[in-house]
Amino acid sequence: LKKQIIANGSIFLDGKFQTGSILIHDDRIYDVITGETKILKSSEYETTDASGCFVSYGFMDPHVHFRCPGQEYKEDWQSGSRSAIKGGYTFVIDMPNNVPSATDMDVIRLKNSIACKTKINYGFYIGLTDGNSDDIGLMFSALNRENIPVYGIKVFLGSSTGDLLVRKSETIRKSLETGIMNLFHCEDEDTLLRYGSIEYKSIKDHDARRPSEAEVNGIIKILEAAKDIRSVANIYICHVSSKAELDFIDQARTDGFMITSEITPHHLYFDLENIGDSNIFKVNPPIRLSSDSDYLRHSFDKGFFDIIGTDHAPHLLSEKNSVSPPSGFPGLETSFYALYKMYEEQKISVEMIFKLLTAGYSIFKIEGRGEIKKGNFADLTIIKNIPFEFIASEAETKSGFSPFDGIKSSCRIDTVMINGEIVMKEGVLL
Ligand SMILES: [Zn+2]
Repeated sequence: LKKQIIANGSIFLDGKFQTGSILIHDDRIYDVITGETKILKSSEYETTDASGCFVSYGFMDPHVHFRCPGQEYKEDWQSGSRSAIKGGYTFVIDMPNNVPSATDMDVIRLKNSIACKTKINYGFYIGLTDGNSDDIGLMFSALNRENIPVYGIKVFLGSSTGDLLVRKSETIRKSLETGIMNLFHCEDEDTLLRYGSIEYKSIKDHDARRPSEAEVNGIIKILEAAKDIRSVANIYICHVSSKAELDFIDQARTDGFMITSEITPHHLYFDLENIGDSNIFKVNPPIRLSSDSDYLRHSFDKGFFDIIGTDHAPHLLSEKNSVSPPSGFPGLETSFYALYKMYEEQKISVEMIFKLLTAGYSIFKIEGRGEIKKGNFADLTIIKNIPFEFIASEAETKSGFSPFDGIKSSCRIDTVMINGEIVMKEGVLL
């Protein structure tokens, strides 16, 4: 029996920080002791001194693109999972816009055979198409019976990266009828086509080409499809980017729709006035106005959002510098630092950051994980008060660039444990 103790950390428990120690036996949390603990020299426990550190349950990211199969040159499960761990994440769920798209059982099985070789805890989403909606519920339960972790259905209402696109309202309704979590990329294709003639000359045009009106119109389509099945329709809105969209979701919740809303660190942090003009910042949905990001931060603190997703979407720098740059950028390694900086600037609360970085376990009903309590798997993230600067060219992701390049923090993601095994120590991956 391997015994470990994480001693005297500031442990995030029940929504607040409390000094205490965590005992770990093999892969599980054996006990949590609040208050100061005396560490005995002769102890049979291997000790990690966590005094002066935040200790959180391992971060969970419901929104990553690890690009397998088909685009391993952008990212693969080795580089992606290392990037996740470096960012304090111990659980990720991977999106289906691969080559080929993960819209049938065989591609998901293939993805599972790749992901299972890494240390990170993981899951997948199945991609919805106008062709597979009749079978999607059956595929979902069949994969779960094979012990392949699928946690939801991803629905692209507009074209983004990859060729997944749903056009028919009937498809959305059938998928929502299953009661399975449906994760929507809300930008509506018809609206995008209407603005598509605006020329892309610089990043500033991206918001004009893909206005928040597209997201609102997408949500209108979802609500229309769900209106008679409100009690079963499990709606998840990915990457809320604008005030208009947020207000619309707020109203829909009042009208009785079950909606989980996701926020990204980049939509909270950036706006069109503070990003300069590099294509690196091109992302779908686009970076909006400062009035939008102000409103998102204000709503973040009020508890409007349910979960933080990074939308980790790596490309190569050469692709981002090309004449038609793809949308998206990596986010796993910088998520906490961006959020923590906003806390230090007194824009958002630190408790809300930790709450939403670990909210995915309960949202996706992942058993045995999510809280620091007796019996749960020992997935932990320890953050130490050592100054840190993020350098994109030294990152684990293959992209080699980041919109957050050079971001400084007063603390560092120091130690990460997955299933009782320390996989990063003193900022170094093992
Ligand atoms: Zn995405």
